Amino acid sequence: MKTYIIEIDEENIEEKKLEKPAAILSAGGTVAFPTETVYGLGANALEPKAVKKIFEAKGRPSDNPLIVHVAKMQGVEKLVKEIPPKALMAMEKFWPGPLTIVLEKTDLVPKEITGGLNTVAIRMPSHPIALKLIEKAQVPVAAPSANISGKPSPTKADHVVQDLSGRVDAIIQGNSCDVGVESTVLDMTGDIPIILRPGGITKEMLEAVLGKVEVDAALEGAEGAVPKSPGMKYTHYAPKAEVYIVKGKEEDTIEEIKRLQKQYKAQGKKVGILCFDETYSKYDEGTLKTIGSRENLKVVAANLFKILREFDDTEVEIILAEAIEEIDLGQAIMNRLVKAAGYRVIHV
Ligand code: AMP
Ligand code: MG
Repeated sequence: MKTYIIEIDEENIEEKKLEKPAAILSAGGTVAFPTETVYGLGANALEPKAVKKIFEAKGRPSDNPLIVHVAKMQGVEKLVKEIPPKALMAMEKFWPGPLTIVLEKTDLVPKEITGGLNTVAIRMPSHPIALKLIEKAQVPVAAPSANISGKPSPTKADHVVQDLSGRVDAIIQGNSCDVGVESTVLDMTGDIPIILRPGGITKEMLEAVLGKVEVDAALEGAEGAVPKSPGMKYTHYAPKAEVYIVKGKEEDTIEEIKRLQKQYKAQGKKVGILCFDETYSKYDEGTLKTIGSRENLKVVAANLFKILREFDDTEVEIILAEAIEEIDLGQAIMNRLVKAAGYRVIHV
C-alpha cells in the first residue's frame, strides 16, 4: 500500500494540506497524525471496517479497545449515555489535553472500538494539527499510538514512518510530541473516578479538581487483580534489548548496575545503561544514555520512548535502567518503563 506523507508546520498550519488526510478519514482510510501525547493512528470511529484497518496495521490484539478522539464537546454527547457532573468538570478543566475519560457508550459506538465493553474511552487532544484534522474529517476519530504493537510509542514523525510506512494510507509529519507519554485513562462510570492508566494528567492534578481519585488496584501490583483497562495487560513499549530496572537508594543502585554490567559482560553480552543527568558521570564503560534530570519529569517523560528506540540502533542486548520515584509524572514514567522491562525490577 502506498503511504501518502504530508509535512505540516504546527506553528503555521496550512489548512489546505489537511484536506486530503481529512478526506481519507471520512472515506474510511487510516491517517497517522501528531498529538501532544504521542503520534496516533486514526480512523473513523463509527465505521467498523475502518477501525479494523487500525488493528491490522498495528498488529494490535482485537480485545484492546481504542480511544475515540473528538474536536468539540458536541461530538461527545452522541457517544455516551450520560455525562455525569464530575465528568463534565474534568472535561471543562482538562480538555483539550492528555486526559481520556471512560463512560457508558451508546449504540452508535461499534463494539470493534471497545473490545466488546459497554463503555467507551474519549479524549479531546490539544495538539492543533490533531484538532483541525478531526474537525475537518467531521467524524470522531479512533486513534491508538501510531506504532507496531509492543514497540515503544512514537514521539517523533520518524518513528511513525519507520513503523507504519506502507501499512497506512497517510502519515502527517509534525514536530516531536510535548508530553511524550500517553494520556491518563480515567474511569468515570462510578462515584469515585479510577485511574486505569497513569499519564500526562497526574493523580494529584485530578484530585485537586475532582476530590478523591482511586488508582486501579491492578496497577498498584495487587496480587491476582486483573486490570480494568484491557490494554494494560499486554507487554508494551519494549526495545529489542532486555530491560532490567534497578530500584533503591542512589549509591546502591549505581553499585548494583555496575555489578550486573560486569556479570553480563562476562557472559559476552553487550550492555547499555539508562540513567539520569545526576548519575551520568558515575558510569564509565558501555553504551550510556540519560533520559534527563530527575528534577524535570516533564523532560524525562518527553524523552523516554525516543531513548528506548535509540537503543534499537545500537548492538546492546541488555539495558540496565535506574528507577524513578513514583510521584507526579513519575507514576506514568515508571508505568511505561516497568512494562518496557517486562516487569523485571530488581530491588536493592
Ligand atoms: P492506546 O490507544 O494504545 O493509547 O491504548 C488505549 C488505552 O485505553 C488502553 O490501555 C485501553 O485498554 C484503554 N481503554 C480504551 N477504551 C477503554 C474502555 N472502554 N475501558 C477501559 N479502558 C479502555
Ligand atoms: Mg499504544
